[in-house]
Amino acid sequence: AKTAKNWRDHQLTVALRVRPFTEEELELAPTKIAHVVEDNMVVLLDPTEDPDDILRANRSREKQYVFDYAFDAKATQEDVYQQTSFLIDGVLDGFNATVFAYGATGAGKTYTMLGQDNDPGIMARTLNDLFTAMEDTSENQVYKVTMSYLEIYNEMIRDLLNPSSGFLDLREDAAGNVQVAGISEVSTKSTREVMRLLTRGNKERTSEPTAANKTSSRSHAVLQVTVKKRNRVRNISQEIRVGKLFMIDLAGSERAAQTKNRGKRMIEGAHINRSLLALGNCINALAEKGGNFKYVNFRDSKLTRLLKDSLGGNCRTVMIAHISPASMFFEESRNTLLYADRAKNI
Ligand code: ADP
Ligand code: MG
Repeated sequence: AKTAKNWRDHQLTVALRVRPFTEEELELAPTKIAHVVEDNMVVLLDPTEDPDDILRANRSREKQYVFDYAFDAKATQEDVYQQTSFLIDGVLDGFNATVFAYGATGAGKTYTMLGQDNDPGIMARTLNDLFTAMEDTSENQVYKVTMSYLEIYNEMIRDLLNPSSGFLDLREDAAGNVQVAGISEVSTKSTREVMRLLTRGNKERTSEPTAANKTSSRSHAVLQVTVKKRNRVRNISQEIRVGKLFMIDLAGSERAAQTKNRGKRMIEGAHINRSLLALGNCINALAEKGGNFKYVNFRDSKLTRLLKDSLGGNCRTVMIAHISPASMFFEESRNTLLYADRAKNI
């Protein structure tokens, strides 16, 4: 794994988390096919190939994937958060950053980002440390922090903190800053209150049953934190620095084709793929040396429009891909590993 120091120099960090078996999986006496080796490698076994076929057995059943970090079932919420917490310093200095959770429905994205009340995920931990860091420098700096929480569903934006406000539009001001018109912006310094707002907001997310899963998250949930900072002594500098941090629980990455969807669900699948595809193009551009954004069309989807000034350039991006260890999710796991593998720094 990269050391903390040179890791900071990287625009894009890719991590992989393998969750423990769920109780539902355990009832089916599952075979474990995803193994974390060291702290940065995942080995995936192909359960569809016949292990008794001696000629092929050792050649193609196993595939190895190397990332910046790999977390196994024993990794705690704090372990995972620690590898993203460096983003806070940048945001306080006026830089933008993005953390997103990628993976099929049920792979553990919401667990990582939102977590549970007694063991919160990245969202609440980040805000907690952000508030502490601000307090530590409050003698010299004045801060204003706001957060908003929205979902992108079918390429439409809804305010998860105020769902009755209907669909919201993206606006771009003269300076090129993208904003969600009419979104509610909350400022609170209590981590418990943040967790309450996020949990309530998450219940408002659009998730409907498909053939593959009971509750498939078909929406992207986006937590945006904006930090404005200026010097307390006004005559030194009137400069205001603005840093934005996006924390995103992406929609399930499973293919529409695999969920045997028809009609309405198929359209949803197409939209999800549009956002994930557009995001994938951005991530691949980031992974290239120097970040070649010439061919990236941010206008391709709502998600990439919103993230336009938070990917590339001086920004930092952390992608955490998620998989189940169980053999019945082999296809999803392989697709996720391939997607994450393509995103690696070349
Ligand atoms: P997703 O958001 O990707 O659809 P979830 O985060 O809802 O998946 O996870 C699916 C189930 O697995 C949930 O019951 C969740 O509590 C559990 N789970 C996910 N990741 C972990 C983990 N690292 N440790 C323990 N349980 C987990
Ligand atoms: Mg989820």
